[in-house]
Amino acid sequence: MTILVTGGCGFIGSNFILEWARREAENVVNLDKLTYAGNLLNLEYAVTTSGRYDFARAGIEETEVVARVLNSSGIRAVINFAAESHVDRSIHDPEAFVQTNIVGTYRLLEAVRRYWELLPTRRQQQDFRFLHISTDEVYGTLGPYDPPFTEDSPFRPNSPYAASKASSDHLVRSCGETYGLPVITTNCSNNYGPRQFPEKLIPLMIYRALEGETLPVYGDGHQIRDWLHVSDHCDAIRNVLAIGRTGETYNIGGIHEMKNIDVVKAICSILDIERPRSDRKPYAEQIAFVADRQGHDRRYAIDATKIRTELGWMPQTAFSDGLRATVRWYLDNPEWVAAVRSGENRNDATESR
Ligand code: NAD
Repeated sequence: MTILVTGGCGFIGSNFILEWARREAENVVNLDKLTYAGNLLNLEYAVTTSGRYDFARAGIEETEVVARVLNSSGIRAVINFAAESHVDRSIHDPEAFVQTNIVGTYRLLEAVRRYWELLPTRRQQQDFRFLHISTDEVYGTLGPYDPPFTEDSPFRPNSPYAASKASSDHLVRSCGETYGLPVITTNCSNNYGPRQFPEKLIPLMIYRALEGETLPVYGDGHQIRDWLHVSDHCDAIRNVLAIGRTGETYNIGGIHEMKNIDVVKAICSILDIERPRSDRKPYAEQIAFVADRQGHDRRYAIDATKIRTELGWMPQTAFSDGLRATVRWYLDNPEWVAAVRSGENRNDATESR
């Protein structure tokens, strides 16, 4: 059997495919539109030439292509990572977020539902999974003393990105409730790790620090996020896929809340050791506070009790270790950063179906 991963050239999807290839014997088909965030360089040669990997360059909204991929590969599960994912971009141009995250998810669900309804046996239908990867941002923002988000927290999205993800979560749920498609949704906190596009906080700060540029921190920098290493997220997804209950949602979090300014200072401290500035001054001198993001959520925090008690999942990577390894990865891969920033990583896109 085969799993279909959408958005597998992005940050989390590519890490998921690489780990899947190392751990599982099952084939993977990756369907990705290759937007600015999709990067063929994210998928190592050894995986893409292994004979257990196939790639289709297409959008999740392209129902006919999705149907063809589903039918030709004997897909037993779909894991939907494909999305527009950057909050700042959603503020400046929400249209793409509505198109991919809402319309795209709807069309993907329609194609998957039609495929699922025609699966030859009841057993195959029961065992099928549609796993939707979502965010804690659907829940909105927390005050400093509020309890963390649980799966029962109301949806109160504040950015166009969060609203589009919340909409997609509702569409996924409705497909399960109305048609019986075996769906599961995960809502995860901020991921960090290798292969994250350098527009997100951690890779952006590393890149700009090394370039000698200012390190722009929104507002007072006291916005709090929960941080999870991407490999722990991938581990949680594999668990949910294997033993999660259909119709359920699972919150996934690192149980590691930090203020943005403290994350930036931690990056600076690591760089001071790993790649000292030529003038020996601390990188923290490059920090500059800038006007806050519109509608900026103050705090996110995740209560991951459900996935821990039901599925036995716990994050394994301490933030200090994971952050150090992440900084080292970016230091060791300057050509990757240069390629994704120039867009050249998408030019030689080839389809293998
Ligand atoms: P990303 O922006 O790095 O990657 C998105 C991928 O989706 C890219 O490869 C892009 O080419 C592809 N894509 C975009 N539009 C598409 C379309 N219409 N059809 C097919 N492919 C398309 O995103 P990411 O950080 O890897 O996030 C993956 C998923 O996880 C998203 O759904 C996001 O909402 C969710 N999530 C991310 C985080 C985080 O911290 N990064 C946290 C929680 C949840």
